[in-house]
Amino acid sequence: MGRLIEQIIIHCSATPNGRPNTVQDIDAWHRTAGYHRSNPIINPDLKSIGYHYVIYIDGTVHTGRGVEEIGAHAADHNHDSIGICLIGTDKFTRAQWLSVSELVHVLSKAYPAADVMGHRDLPDVHKICPGFNAITWFYSGMGPLEGHCLE
Ligand SMILES: [Zn+2]
Repeated sequence: MGRLIEQIIIHCSATPNGRPNTVQDIDAWHRTAGYHRSNPIINPDLKSIGYHYVIYIDGTVHTGRGVEEIGAHAADHNHDSIGICLIGTDKFTRAQWLSVSELVHVLSKAYPAADVMGHRDLPDVHKICPGFNAITWFYSGMGPLEGHCLE
């Protein structure tokens, strides 16, 4: 039986815009933060990564945890959410905007009851993550956001 998914939560890696960090980098940072995957379904070499998906600056979508695996990306909301991380802080490539829109489109069809939001939209989160208003972005059709594009 599948995990109940109530939220699709978008994050950024909080790394310099345009810098090509990888799932291996995030895995190392999350290991330092004390995260540990207890039951990896996919990508067992990534022993700590908290996100389910990571979108590189070239637009490629990489998996971290399997969607049936509880993530480690949003305190108190991990059990019923999927976490997507865009590499960067608040400016993303056109390829990233295209990929995140395709991924969120697919996930929101697969989990029609789930709300799409940014990390910062959760209660008691005092971060800018993911660097843009993901709720407005979702409801306005998921196009690249002006002022948040790397050329
Ligand atoms: Zn975040």
